[in-house]
Amino acid sequence: MLDARVRGLSRSHRAVKEGDLHQINSMRKSGLRVPTIFRAFANQSGRFETVGFEIKDIYNAIEKQRWAGVTNAESALKFLGTLRMTDSGMFWKYSVDVDKRLENLFWCNGTSHYDYNVFGDVLGFDATYGRNKYKCPLVIFSGVDHHMRTVVFGCAILSNESEASYVWLLRLFLKAMKGKQSKSVITDGDLAMKSVVSTVFPGAHHRLCIWHLLRNATARVGRHGFLRKFHLCLMGDLEVDEFERIWTESVADHGFEDHPWIVEMYAKKHSWSNAHIRGKFFAGLKTTSRCEALNMQLGKFIHNGYNLREFLEHFQHYLEFMRRRELVADYKSAYGEPVVKTKLEAIEQFAATVYTREVFELFREVLMLASNVRVVSTKRMSACVLFEVAMYCKQRSWAVSWAEEDDEFSSSCQRMESFGLPCIHMVGVLVYLNMTAIPKGTKRAKQPRAPCDGTCVGEIPDAAYMSMHAAMLDDCRELVSLSCRFFEDYVDVKTRLAKERQSLRDKHHQRLGVAEEASRVSIRDPLRARYKGCGRRVVTSREKFCRVQRADTILASVNNRVWGRTSTVLRLARLIKAWRQERGVRSTTNLSELAELFLLAVTHRDGLSMAGYYALYLLA
Ligand SMILES: [Zn+2]
Repeated sequence: MLDARVRGLSRSHRAVKEGDLHQINSMRKSGLRVPTIFRAFANQSGRFETVGFEIKDIYNAIEKQRWAGVTNAESALKFLGTLRMTDSGMFWKYSVDVDKRLENLFWCNGTSHYDYNVFGDVLGFDATYGRNKYKCPLVIFSGVDHHMRTVVFGCAILSNESEASYVWLLRLFLKAMKGKQSKSVITDGDLAMKSVVSTVFPGAHHRLCIWHLLRNATARVGRHGFLRKFHLCLMGDLEVDEFERIWTESVADHGFEDHPWIVEMYAKKHSWSNAHIRGKFFAGLKTTSRCEALNMQLGKFIHNGYNLREFLEHFQHYLEFMRRRELVADYKSAYGEPVVKTKLEAIEQFAATVYTREVFELFREVLMLASNVRVVSTKRMSACVLFEVAMYCKQRSWAVSWAEEDDEFSSSCQRMESFGLPCIHMVGVLVYLNMTAIPKGTKRAKQPRAPCDGTCVGEIPDAAYMSMHAAMLDDCRELVSLSCRFFEDYVDVKTRLAKERQSLRDKHHQRLGVAEEASRVSIRDPLRARYKGCGRRVVTSREKFCRVQRADTILASVNNRVWGRTSTVLRLARLIKAWRQERGVRSTTNLSELAELFLLAVTHRDGLSMAGYYALYLLA
């Protein structure tokens, strides 16, 4: 007989019951780790001994669930199918390679469709890595909503970042969004993305991410004075002539007239310079950093080791979290009035009723500067009134036209077309005309959110499912014991059950729609992806040993004195690596580079012996 204290540890006494498994799944969805879940169970049952299973049983149950009859890819597609039950706008498509492995997967839901229809004029996308077990790049399509918050339009997992994958993805995205083209697309400077954007979104203005450009400028040019001016050209609210003047002067000052990167950047100025982009609607979006911030936030919900199914589940959870925050922002904008801060009370109050809280704050900044504007002249034309507007202490003047009949304003600075908010010149004219309302045509008005257009087909929450399952199981047990007593009953019940099962299965397939493709076509899991910068080739321990030995032999042959051999070799290796990384060379190819490296080693006063310097020379 086993001691009562250890009886619970024997295999026959341990089992994760159906109800426990549901509870475990529900806790994992909220981001709890397995040890925490186990502690929660111990807390519920009073002691660890009385839980009924051990921590490793939870791991086993989760693993068993993951591989329940289907591959991970199939399981992930099935999950998307179940989402369709509560959201008819759910859309997904996948592609497989020659080995029937899942290659690319794109999905978006009903809310994303709605968001893209309203806020899809500006589209940003960027790839991130390592958010799943297969290390496949994750591409998130995002934009900015009326609260100036990031909104997700769709998502994809790609097997690689090739041009073909991006073409497949963007075409699918366009198809999912019923062909609605974005007016502006912002990406990092990746060449593959750039050519794909011009193919799939021919009418869109392609903007390069400012953050990536600044990083490139630092790496390629690196002169502080030039970088400051470059930053001004990128971020400053300049006019075209101001840009040209600053650019020409700074290039001439630093003698960069023939610098290839600078020549290339100037040729591409229409994809990054604020002054040249003006008039194209970007909703204030200048970098893909929103995509990157999104990725960082995603890290709180998704761990790198998740398989596809788990990834999708947690990503869905993250989207729900984001939409909840938007709801809170909607509520805050709809109820409560902001305090009036300027002397132009009427127009400020009007703005508070038209704009969301975040956009209103932006408008108020413009309103505060309106006193700097003065109307120089007024000219009445046949269709509109033209105002010549000048700013305090500035030589330049701008033209603002007002079409009285349509109540539409436009300004020659084109800032409204870029940001969707009236510019300072227009606000100056509004004040001059004693107007209390903001004209139509601004793109950031409050957008009441329509409920998700997905029709709910009887969504069953976890808790309800658990109790229904338990009740059904009780009935079935009795049915089995009763029907097996007489052969006649057994045959009768079995036939009826088979019929019921088939009809339920058909009904289920119908509800899931395309998801059942997954159960007909066998799909294998994707291979672990390799991408740019995913790390070096794995070096075997044998190779490492050989390398150290080789360096060691050289050292010994040059100088027989031993100067703490291993540490010297390591220091050498580190020095070589840093030197190569700094110059971006894989191996030294010519004599001048070797000489430079040698010089660096000699001047590097970190205690290397002359033997070390010589070895460094030979090694490089
Ligand atoms: Zn203006």
